Amino acid sequence: MPIDNLIYLDNASTTKVDENVLKVYEQTHKDFFANPSSIHKAGQQAKYLLDRSREDILKIFNLYNHQVIYLSGATEANNLAIKGVCFRYKNRGNHLITSSYEHPSVLEAFRQLEKEFGYQVTYLNPNSDGVITKEMVVNAITDKTILVSIMYVNNEIGAINPIKEIGLELAKYPKVIFHTDASQAIGKLNENLDFSSVDLVTISSHKIHGLVGSGILLKKKNLELLPLASGGGQEYNYRSGTEDLPNALATKKAIEIAMKHSKERYEYVSKLADRLINYLKSRPDLYELNLPKEINPYIINFSTITKKSSVVVEALSNNNILVSSVSACHSSKEKGSYVVKALGKEYKIANNTIRVSLDYLNTMEEIEIFISTLEKIIGEIR
Ligand code: PMP
Repeated sequence: MPIDNLIYLDNASTTKVDENVLKVYEQTHKDFFANPSSIHKAGQQAKYLLDRSREDILKIFNLYNHQVIYLSGATEANNLAIKGVCFRYKNRGNHLITSSYEHPSVLEAFRQLEKEFGYQVTYLNPNSDGVITKEMVVNAITDKTILVSIMYVNNEIGAINPIKEIGLELAKYPKVIFHTDASQAIGKLNENLDFSSVDLVTISSHKIHGLVGSGILLKKKNLELLPLASGGGQEYNYRSGTEDLPNALATKKAIEIAMKHSKERYEYVSKLADRLINYLKSRPDLYELNLPKEINPYIINFSTITKKSSVVVEALSNNNILVSSVSACHSSKEKGSYVVKALGKEYKIANNTIRVSLDYLNTMEEIEIFISTLEKIIGEIR
C-alpha cells in the first residue's frame, strides 16, 4: 500500500522526498552526468555546478570559514568527523566528550575508539530538562581533551541543546574540536541556526525531504581530518570516489527548501503538536509524556502506562497509522529506549515509549484520527 494512503507519523526516521528534489536529481542525471574530475568541457561544467552548490549551502547557513563535504548521510558524516579528528589529532590527547543520548552512529563510533584504539570517553547525561549544558561540557574538559560531540536535537525526545553557546565556550579551548550532529535540527527549529562557532556539523538529507543515502559534513577550513576512505582525493580528499553531482544538487535543494520554509512549517506543526500534547496530558492514567523542558513540536515522545508500547505500535500500524516505539535505527537490537533511560525515567516507562514525529505534510485530521484510534486500541488490548 503506498504510504500516502496511510497516516505517516514517523518523520524523524525519514521523510517523503520533495518532488522538486526528485526533479533536480533526475534532471542532473540526464543533463550533467559527466565526471566532475574529467577535464573536458562537460566534466568542467559538472565541477562548476558542484562547487557552486557548496557555495550556495554555505550561504544558506551564513558560513564563511567552512567547507561542504558531500557524503552518504549522517552516519558517514558522524564517523568521518569523530574518527577523522581522533586519528588526525591523536598526538594532542586521547580524551573525548559526548553525551549518553547520541544517535548510534555517534555512540558506536566512540565505543569503537574506546575499545579498539584506547581513547577515553566521557558520556554526559542530560539534565532533567533533557539538555546538555555548556557547564557540563566545560566541567568535563581535561588537558587531554581533543573532541566534543553533542547533538543539536535528540532524535527520540526532541531535546534541543545550546549548540551555539557550547561552541562559543569551547572557542576558549583552541585544542578542543567541536562537532554537532544536526540531523534533526535543519529546518525544524524556531531559532536561527548559527554554526559559526562549530567546527564540524552533520546534516542528513532524508530527514528534510531529500534523498536517502546523502548528507553533508560542514567542516571549518583550517581543520584537518584523517580520511576514512583513501583514493582519488575527491571531496577535499575526505571522501574519495567519483563525486555524486545529482545527489549533491538534490541535497542542496532539500536544504534550501527546508530552510526557506522553516518558520511557517514550525508554526503549523506546533498547532498539531499542541493538540496531541493536550490530549496526552488529559489522560495521565494512560500516558506519561517524555518531553524535554523546551518542547520540540516535531518530536513527541510518551510512554503507555497500562499497555506494552510495542503492542500498541503494532495495533496502530494495523490501523494504518505509522509511529515508532524506539528510534528505527536500533529498534531490533535494544530493549527499551536508552534515551528515555538517560532522562532518569524508570525502566517500565523507558521500555514503553512511543515516538510520534510530525511534519508539515501531516494534517489536524490525521492527529484527530491518531488520538481516537490510540484510545480505542488501548481500551481493547488485553
Ligand atoms: N543522527 C541522527 C540524530 C539521526 O536521527 C539519524 C537518522 N536516524 C542519523 C544520525 C543517521 O542518519 P543517516 O540515515 O543519514 O545515516
